[in-house]
This record gives sequence, C-alpha cells and structure tokens, in this order.
Amino acid sequence: MEDFYKILGVEKNASVDDIKKAYRKLALKYHPDVNKTKEAEEKFKEINEAYAVLSDEKKRQQYDTYGHDNFNQRYSQDDIFRDFDFEQVFRDFGINFGGGGFSDNIFNDIFSNGQRSSGGDIGSDILAHVDISLEEAYNGVDKKIKLKHVIVCNICKGSGAEPGSNIVTCRTCNGNGQVRATQRTIFGIMQTVAPCPKCNGSGKSIEKACSNCRGNGKIVLENTIDISIPKGIENGTQLRVKGMGDYGKNRTGDLYVEVSIQKNKVFQRDRNDLLCDINIPFYAAILGGKTSINTLNGVKDVSIKSGTQNGDTIVLYGSGMPRFRSNQYGDLIIKIHVDIPTNISKEQHELISKFEELDKKKKKFGIF
Ligand SMILES: [Zn+2]
Ligand SMILES: [Zn+2]
Repeated sequence: MEDFYKILGVEKNASVDDIKKAYRKLALKYHPDVNKTKEAEEKFKEINEAYAVLSDEKKRQQYDTYGHDNFNQRYSQDDIFRDFDFEQVFRDFGINFGGGGFSDNIFNDIFSNGQRSSGGDIGSDILAHVDISLEEAYNGVDKKIKLKHVIVCNICKGSGAEPGSNIVTCRTCNGNGQVRATQRTIFGIMQTVAPCPKCNGSGKSIEKACSNCRGNGKIVLENTIDISIPKGIENGTQLRVKGMGDYGKNRTGDLYVEVSIQKNKVFQRDRNDLLCDINIPFYAAILGGKTSINTLNGVKDVSIKSGTQNGDTIVLYGSGMPRFRSNQYGDLIIKIHVDIPTNISKEQHELISKFEELDKKKKKFGIF
C-alpha cells in the first residue's frame, strides 16, 4: 500500500492543519454516501487509516521512525484505530453521515479490518512473552516459544462431524444460514443480518459429532514455535507471527510475542545508546591515562584526558545498541567516577602534603 503522506497528498513535513484539510477534502470526496464505487470504498478506508496515524502525534512519530512497511508490521489495524474517535472526527469536520446511508460493509471494513465483526468463526489473537538478555537484544536471537493454541481438528478437518456421519439442516436458522440481529453502533441502532452462530452460516448441522473435537471442529494443542528476534529490539516490543493464534473458520488469529529485556548489571539502555559507569583513581583523573572496558562488542580502550572531573562522560561512538532493522549503532556513554583513596600510607600522605604545599605556592604567586 502507498505511503500515508501520499494517500493524503501532503508533504512529509505537513502541519497538523494541512493534514486535517487534506483529509477533510478526501473524506468528502470518497464518502460512501456520495461515492458508491468499490474503489471509493477502498480509498475511504485508506484515507481514514492514513489520517488515524498522521493526526496522532505519537503514531505519526513512530510512523516516521519506522517507515511504512515496518510500521504496518508492528501495528495492527486495531492499534492504528485505537484512540481514534471517528464520531468526534466527523462531527468536528461537519461531515454528516445521515441515517443508515452508511453500508454495513464499509462500517465493518473500516472499523474492524473487514474481518473482526463480519461474523462467523473468528479465532483469537494470542499474546505470549519471552525474556531475553541485553546481549541477546544486541546480537539478535532465536527463541522457542511454548504456547497453547486452538487448531483445526485433524480428524474431521474442521467440519465437526464424525467421519461418515450425516449432515442435516440447521434447526437454529432453518437452513438459511443467517439470523437477524440488532446492533448498537456509533451511528445508532442498526439492523444486521449475521451468519447463524450455530452452523456458522452453512445452514447445515451435523448428526453425530466428531469424537476427537466433540463437534467443535477444533482442538487445543500445546505447541512450540521458533521465533527469530531481530537485533536492536526494544523492551516491550510485540512481534507478530501471522496465523499462529487460535484457529477460526473465517479467520485464524495471530500470535503476538512480547519481548522483555532483562536488566543488565553493567549497562543501562537509553533507546539506542548504552550508559555505564567506571571508576578511575584520582591520579589518572589528574594525569590522564588509559583504561579498557568490556562492551557488548568486545574489549574497548578508553583514554582518560588529564584533568578529567568526577561525573565527566566519555562517548564511544558506535558502541551502543544496534538500531532496530538498521545497520547503524547508538553510542556508549561512560560516566567517570573519580575514586578518592580513604586509607593511605605515611609516604603517600607526605606526597599529597607536598602537592598541597606546591599548589598553595602556585596560587599565591598568581599563576592561576
Ligand atoms: Zn473433529
Ligand atoms: Zn444455522
């Protein structure tokens, strides 16, 4: 699908106002009450999707960061339309839908990705969790996920009928396959015709239920699946595995794997940057010197400038986390702590006293 900016016909740096204007113009043009073509319906869905994202500062920022394809991979239609109040938007724009002019079909299409509320047997999405270490987030890692999900019955292949048994007319819908229902929507009360819940719209029912699935046509299975976690992933990211949710005749759900990154003892993460602390002796702070640090990518030298102050930072460019779905890396920011010795020998004491004397003399003669 096209870029959301292109769909609305605005520039990447368009203001909120420009986006609103562009959307209003298109919404009126492709409004299903005005334009009854199939193309208009598709277009109307597209512009609403684009507007739902670009009108929301946070979603727009994410969209700009990830790009169209990655954004669509990370965010489902539900995510995109979450917090997007159509009723309010249209009221604000003075777009009047009139009574019942809005077809059910479009309603379902726009608000439910064309599947969720279209009735029938819809499998649920499943959320699973996986913990990984910061090192694994750095390198990327393959993990096995254990989950329980609903799959199609292997004996009756989903029909629910014992193999060889008879199929008869459904008594709930008298074979029509449909039942009438009243649905409350944001556009008011709507009369809808929904597929019969008993026979899922087939109009037929089974005489003898499959003994493997008790006539459900599906069974619960414990499964292990492999998932590849890309490097640079952020804590809390949900990866979607299409079709690995619960089976449904009309739609099988997706599996979402939420990735948690365990705290690391040495490094704290700030998006793509890593932060850590190191201690250096006070004389190294004064004289300068070299030390080394164990980064996630091997041992790196760190040079300490003479005159380093407590709390100063040293940046190792490119030694941070990899950027998600990119070949770039963040930085490693090292915070310096200067150690002041607490237990010194007599000789050390004399030397420091000598230092103090010289320092006082220097100041007296106005060198500083
Ligand atoms: Zn079965
Ligand atoms: Zn029926």
